[in-house]
Amino acid sequence: MNVWDVAIIGGGPAGLSAALVLGRALRSVVIIDEDNPRNGSALSSHGYLTRDGVSPSAFRELGREDLRAYELVRLEQDTAEKASKEGNHFHIATASGKSYISKYLIVATGARDQLPPIPGIRECYGISIFPCPYCDGWEHRGEPLAVIGSGPHLFDYVRLIFNWSRDLIVFADGASMLTLDQKQALQSRGISLLEQPIKSLYGSGGQLQKIVLEDGQEIARRIAFLADTGARDATGIPDDLGVEREEDGQYETLEHGSTRIDGLYIIGDAKHYFTGLVGSASEGYEAGVAINRKLVEEDWV
Ligand SMILES: Cc1cc2nc3c(=O)[nH]c(=O)nc-3n(C[C@H](O)[C@H](O)[C@H](O)COP(=O)(O)OP(=O)(O)OC[C@H]3O[C@@H](n4cnc5c(N)ncnc54)[C@H](O)[C@@H]3O)c2cc1C
Repeated sequence: MNVWDVAIIGGGPAGLSAALVLGRALRSVVIIDEDNPRNGSALSSHGYLTRDGVSPSAFRELGREDLRAYELVRLEQDTAEKASKEGNHFHIATASGKSYISKYLIVATGARDQLPPIPGIRECYGISIFPCPYCDGWEHRGEPLAVIGSGPHLFDYVRLIFNWSRDLIVFADGASMLTLDQKQALQSRGISLLEQPIKSLYGSGGQLQKIVLEDGQEIARRIAFLADTGARDATGIPDDLGVEREEDGQYETLEHGSTRIDGLYIIGDAKHYFTGLVGSASEGYEAGVAINRKLVEEDWV
């Protein structure tokens, strides 16, 4: 029976970064990754120092390349389907029928976006429709932008996007939840608010060209920011292991991504839905160091 020091489910920046620090600490690590990153549709990613503008696939390949130097780290392309804790060990079963046993388990499975059901949105997502202005705002600073969204966070999101461009049209896709004061605040800054339902987004090759409303209006916009991407958990494995939820629906985590289930950690987007590349890598490093510290204490007997 091969017991890994650490099993990591998910090989994005969070999981790969945890593997790197653990591999360098002489720990045996298996990463189970189905290789379906959330930002996979993006042409380039930004904000990661020394890798600003790199494509998501190249970014991951560079991370995997770093890990090849560490012979105790293994990467398996597979989907973790189930995990249980029996005694002190985690048992992980994968879609290809393999199973792994580990002392510690890191869930770094990211999040999945459930985009609003607007025809055309998926084709443009990551190419000309973006979730995050820190990731893609600079490239489109000062350009005419659409903000698509509804819900209670719309006003804050519009205010944020206004930092990158003053030429904004807000498409609420139906009646917005904005208060009268908030509507006046938009109006006084020259921001149009359209509350008609969106019929479709028209684009070509991922490039948005216009937004078509149910009432027949067609508004040309080449770039949009999406206030709510419908981020959801990528896996229910933490639920199966008994992790509780916070009030906002996210998994309850303690210091360094640890949970109340001894030995189980949740990091990156799996923990709070939008951590970014550098934030996820940082959480991976932090969890890796925390786990190694525990393993050092366990070895010192
Ligand atoms: C369109 C778009 C553009 C973005 N652009 C940027 C940007 O420019 N800069 C930036 O900092 N951030 C950007 N982000 C956010 C960034 O992609 C995430 O915050 C970051 O990738 C989270 O890292 P992670 O390691 O937690 O998850 P991910 O990178 O999503 O990796 C999770 C991995 O786990 C795997 N996985 C999931 N479930 C299982 C399972 N059951 N078994 C095995 N493997 C599994 C997935 O296939 C995936 O490979 C963008 C996001 C989107 C959606």
